Amino acid sequence: MNLSGICLCGSGAYSTSDPVISGNCHCLDCKKASGSGYAATFFVLENAIPITGEVKYHERMASDGKLARRGYCPHCGSQSFGKPEAMPGLIGVRASSLTDLSQYKPQADIFASRTPAWDCMDSALPKFPEMPPLG
Ligand SMILES: [Zn+2]
Ligand SMILES: [Zn+2]
Repeated sequence: MNLSGICLCGSGAYSTSDPVISGNCHCLDCKKASGSGYAATFFVLENAIPITGEVKYHERMASDGKLARRGYCPHCGSQSFGKPEAMPGLIGVRASSLTDLSQYKPQADIFASRTPAWDCMDSALPKFPEMPPLG
């Protein structure tokens, strides 16, 4: 499956293929950074996603004590990428950046214990109250 996406202003774009893993993150930091109830994200190998345009990264210590790096377009502020230190070699891509939004297939909800009533979840997806163990 070919996946391509673009930021709001169109200056940043990427194309890649099959995600390694995908899910909706409901942690408080993803709420703040995404401006929404959760961050719908798929991960691909870092060397399998050529990105055109400028990406700036904001770094913040995550609850696991490792750095969460959130990449955004410096022109329009779209937060399209993530490079969590906990997931070396992978880059997270926000599903909202996809040209074809229907291509995103979430596999789970994570940090599902952090959801207010208005943050609705798909009952068919597996739920992890916090971060599931990696690997
Ligand atoms: Zn942009
Ligand atoms: Zn999160």
